[in-house]
Amino acid sequence: MADYQLIIIGGGLSGLAAGIRAARFGQKTLILEQHSLPGGLNSYYVRQGRLLETGLHAMTNCAAPGDKHAPLNRLFRQLRLSRKHFALHEQIASEIRFAGQSLLFSNDPNLLETSIAAAFPDCIDRFRRLKSALAGYDPFAPAPWRSARQFLSEQLQHSRLEDMLLLPLMVYGNAEERDMDLGQFAIMFRAVFEEGFFRPAGVIREFLDLLVNQYREFGGELRYRSPVEEILVEDGRIAGVRLPGGETLSADVVLSTAGVPETIRLSGWDADQDAFTGRMSFMETISLLPQAHAASLGRDRTIIFYHNNPRLDYRRPDDLLDTSWGVICFPEHFAGMPPVETAQIRVTNAASYPLWKALPAAAYGPAKAQWTQAATVASEEIIGNYRSSIVYQDSFTPVTIERFTRKAEGAVYGSGKKIKDGRTPWPNLFVAGTDQGYLGIVGAMLSGITVVNQHILR
Ligand SMILES: Cc1cc2nc3c(=O)[nH]c(=O)nc-3n(C[C@H](O)[C@H](O)[C@H](O)COP(=O)(O)OP(=O)(O)OC[C@H]3O[C@@H](n4cnc5c(N)ncnc54)[C@H](O)[C@@H]3O)c2cc1C
Repeated sequence: MADYQLIIIGGGLSGLAAGIRAARFGQKTLILEQHSLPGGLNSYYVRQGRLLETGLHAMTNCAAPGDKHAPLNRLFRQLRLSRKHFALHEQIASEIRFAGQSLLFSNDPNLLETSIAAAFPDCIDRFRRLKSALAGYDPFAPAPWRSARQFLSEQLQHSRLEDMLLLPLMVYGNAEERDMDLGQFAIMFRAVFEEGFFRPAGVIREFLDLLVNQYREFGGELRYRSPVEEILVEDGRIAGVRLPGGETLSADVVLSTAGVPETIRLSGWDADQDAFTGRMSFMETISLLPQAHAASLGRDRTIIFYHNNPRLDYRRPDDLLDTSWGVICFPEHFAGMPPVETAQIRVTNAASYPLWKALPAAAYGPAKAQWTQAATVASEEIIGNYRSSIVYQDSFTPVTIERFTRKAEGAVYGSGKKIKDGRTPWPNLFVAGTDQGYLGIVGAMLSGITVVNQHILR
């Protein structure tokens, strides 16, 4: 008998959700996480006694507890977590500020519609038709790749509105450069513009604790600082995994959430690692400042997606960082948040992994300081000055993301090529998480659940 029925590589959100689902149905399950904390891309770290989150701007797919069909509630049901006891804070309102034009949206889809009617009166009927077309579109039905840009251009016939709608959906959930798959666009449109943003009460650590505790309640085992060094293959099947020091563990099934490039490396899978390596990565700049000052910035916006150039060019930049567009998030600007003394401003900009990676060790720190400053200055042009109030500032680059998560090239949304059915050349090795195709926190969790339901519990 194998040591485990299921070994999951990775204790990020997809791995934890997959683990809960499998353990709940009595599978003897082990999660192996290379880092000392859970969460993967969405984890936390402590600097000077302060807990800083690595990822969480906002969760998507906000839903009231009574809405049975909403993805968020389906997720909670699948994980046997109570929605009633899960406190969340909805966004106040977010803004797309694009080359001098602005659109607002909130968790009430009418705000976006009103805002489009005011800014693009000639397009409002076409936008309504686009919404109807998306409502009748099943993004989960197997379909060949279709250009979201072409669909938007046909529906809206307005390149600026097309770019403005694409900006938040791409930056929060598109692994491809320049264009995105229509199915992914439809998923993100619903997740962001129709259901909207929220934050769970507390910080990400509490949300991760909730998941880890639920997993352990169902009898699941979790080992930190346990990087899988090899996925063992015997007679055309996966036999188990090898850990540092030569320890081997056998398993009936292995589920990898480590990303396809890392899974190729570990298993010797005959596939082109580079073809599965994503190109979109980001630098995140976190500034802490007195709440009294932060509250006066951003005019009660929760998230501002800004873009200073005339056309959206979502791609890996030619320089270390592209500050001409980005995201400014105020994690305290959600409805009903308890007062804090120190608030955060998080700024995200597209960054080039190869350029950061090529820097000699002595140049890395100064480059980070220089580009942190550039990101701050660019955000000040949008929300006003705050540099003089900063009490603490930190930033991380694509190289940091890769170091802590082993996500190849720090590609936050993984590969542009997704393995939607989660299958690999071996009948008992599956992939879940970012490279299976669902993106973001809610998406990663749904991916873990879906792959377990489809391939393991059957
Ligand atoms: C800066 C930033 C901001 C973000 N903001 C948001 C947001 O506001 N909202 C949102 O919805 N999403 C956001 N995301 C995206 C979100 O965090 C991810 O989509 C999601 O967490 C991916 O989860 P995952 O489980 O698929 O992958 P991962 O989180 O990458 O998990 C994979 C895990 O596998 C582990 N691992 C890798 N190799 C091995 C190995 N060999 N052995 C053992 N373990 C291994 C890694 O350490 C990691 O824990 C953000 C991400 C970043 C980086």
